[in-house]
Amino acid sequence: MSNFQRLEGIINDISDFTAILKRDPRVRVPLIPEIQNVWEWDDLGLPLFPELKIGPWVRHVPSDFAQVKGQRKFPGTPVGRDFIDFMRSNAQTVTLDCTRNHGEIANTKQLLLRMIYGGDFKKIRAVGDNANGITITKNDDILLAYENAVSLLRVSHEGTKLTNAELIEKINWNAARGFLGPGTYKCREAHCTVTGPCITQSPSVRFGPTPNQVVHLQKRFKCNCNNVVYLVHCQACIDEGNWTAYVGTTHRKDRNFHERLGGHCKKLVDEWNNERYGGDPGLPNYLHAMINHGAPDPHQLIRDAFVHWGFYHDREDRRITILDGQFPTDRVRLHHEAILMREIGGFEYFPQNGTGSLNKFL
Ligand SMILES: [Zn+2]
Ligand SMILES: [Zn+2]
Ligand SMILES: [Zn+2]
Repeated sequence: MSNFQRLEGIINDISDFTAILKRDPRVRVPLIPEIQNVWEWDDLGLPLFPELKIGPWVRHVPSDFAQVKGQRKFPGTPVGRDFIDFMRSNAQTVTLDCTRNHGEIANTKQLLLRMIYGGDFKKIRAVGDNANGITITKNDDILLAYENAVSLLRVSHEGTKLTNAELIEKINWNAARGFLGPGTYKCREAHCTVTGPCITQSPSVRFGPTPNQVVHLQKRFKCNCNNVVYLVHCQACIDEGNWTAYVGTTHRKDRNFHERLGGHCKKLVDEWNNERYGGDPGLPNYLHAMINHGAPDPHQLIRDAFVHWGFYHDREDRRITILDGQFPTDRVRLHHEAILMREIGGFEYFPQNGTGSLNKFL
């Protein structure tokens, strides 16, 4: 079999939503060595192998980046389109002519640079010495690792007071750094301050102390996507020698994954318990008595993501991973949720200390 066929085969295996039906739930999905060094991933979360590209300089531009929506109008302007067309083409260098948009050239340059920075593009280099334009060159340099978490925060669209020269410096610094392999990564949106810091950003995720409690991911997603099945596990529990995990899915009514995760912080996830206890002002006291003084918990109030990361441990102890996503139908998504709950937590719960799977078998 040629290398080409082998890589095509990997993509076919990963993208097959029926593969989960053939899996033995007791056996972990193995790590795929071939995808661990891939830096570019498509809208479906699949690896873009350089070997399978139609040209060496063709780059993936996410479809939501290219879309004009709400305040994001620049991708629809002539200069915005020129940049997107250049990225998707096999050209290595372009000088974007900023006179093609209406308005002042310096302002067009500023908007263009902010758009590029916000797009989190890798392996490019911007130069702004041309009077009317910005020159962009694609490269194939090895990506460096980010030194710390702060460097992953993105500038706010509104609050940006950076000069064009400062933006160019930031684009180039950020374009030289990135992650390899599958996993869940931060979206870099300015408002992503609660979910973002808990994103695992790793190709493999260990959610408990036993050797089998590890997930090797096969796709790559960011925390601003939708239509996903996710895992939240608890770092504080691992530190204490225990484990706690919750597998959930985004709902139709959620605008995105951030909103879904935010919902866990607002009310009991268990709907029956929420109806019974949600409006009860005594709830924090009951929970305190159960968690700290061993009071009985007949309705498993502790076994709830809202309680675990709001009362038992902290919101910051959550570790968030998107297991799979971009499902073709709701039915396929819910089916994956059910199987992944069984594979990951196995509905195993330890009432003596309130840890284990927060998914209740229905
Ligand atoms: Zn985010
Ligand atoms: Zn915990
Ligand atoms: Zn007390």
